[in-house]
Amino acid sequence: TRQWRLTSRPTGEPSHENFDLVTVDRPDPGPGEVLVRTLYQSVDPYMRGRMRDAESYAEPWDVGDPMEAGVVGEVVESNHDGFEAGDVVTGNLLWAEHAVADGDDLRRVDPDRGPVSTALGVLGMPGVTAYFGMLDVAEPQPGDTVVVSAAAGAVGSVAGQLAGLSGARVVGTAGSDEKTSWLTDDLGFDAAINYKTTDDLSGAMAEACPDGIDVYFDNVGGPITDAVWPLLNVRSRVAVCGQIALYNATEVPTGPRKLGKLIESRARVEGLLVRDYEDRWGEALDRLSTFIREDDLHYREHVVEGFENAPNAFMGLFEGENVGKQLVQVAEY
Ligand code: NDP
Repeated sequence: TRQWRLTSRPTGEPSHENFDLVTVDRPDPGPGEVLVRTLYQSVDPYMRGRMRDAESYAEPWDVGDPMEAGVVGEVVESNHDGFEAGDVVTGNLLWAEHAVADGDDLRRVDPDRGPVSTALGVLGMPGVTAYFGMLDVAEPQPGDTVVVSAAAGAVGSVAGQLAGLSGARVVGTAGSDEKTSWLTDDLGFDAAINYKTTDDLSGAMAEACPDGIDVYFDNVGGPITDAVWPLLNVRSRVAVCGQIALYNATEVPTGPRKLGKLIESRARVEGLLVRDYEDRWGEALDRLSTFIREDDLHYREHVVEGFENAPNAFMGLFEGENVGKQLVQVAEY
């Protein structure tokens, strides 16, 4: 069976040199453990942080070790009472075709509830992040103007639609016309800005938000946040979910410098971490699956075929290749 290992730490953009595909013996599950065959592997922006040799909210990976990833897989062999061969499960496993996990760390996926891959996207970690980040931290009210950055990504696409369902006016930023069209034509966003083709981002933001901004759900940081900042309304909320524009930065950027805006607006800026909501995961999944069933919540998955392409799929996140959730299909279900 094959695994991807971290062979070196990237400086700036990750590259193929940082990854090594190795063949190893298929592991045997010990007591209480389960052997899982990977069907879908997730690649996520936070993994860039784990490639770095610096403490963060996610521990760094060691050079030479296999990397971890959210996986949906099929149980091959189980020494855990809760699972039997053929069950579909999800958990944090490895960038690997097969991996062993403690059964207590796995969650069952019901294949009758929809495509099993959604357990890594809209009905998984990104969906739950969007759910609590938007509804608990940002708290959009009817009539609010809500801006979401990386709005056509896994988290952003769900976050924006939830704001719309709360009765807010929703504006998204994304990096292609295909993405901005998806936001406005299919996901119900009221406006969308292609930040890559807009010469005057501040002007475009002001035009899209004539009444200012009440909620900013930030996945990105950098120039998009700079364009949002002057438009923050009194008592606005900023939910800081991600800063992907800075993940490959080789120099620490200066700032934030415009904090005076917070005095004027009395805005609340709050970071969020999905792991704080572990005990409320089920609540989010129930609501999100109801929204999907009732056609109020749409999603897309960007599936890269083949385990050998996992690094490409990961690096593609920084080029904005994905519309919706970026996944690697490792085996057929
Ligand atoms: P996405 O599916 O949104 O993929 C990343 C997207 O970011 C790309 O598609 C790209 O879209 C955009 N992007 C990449 N580079 C830049 C850049 N330099 N400037 C602006 N946009 C860029 O990923 P996720 O939905 O999984 O994650 C979104 C954010 O949420 C990330 O920052 C991630 O770290 C964070 N996150 C935080 C969690 C938490 O608990 N706090 C949990 C999960 C995710 P485009 O074409 O628009 O550029």
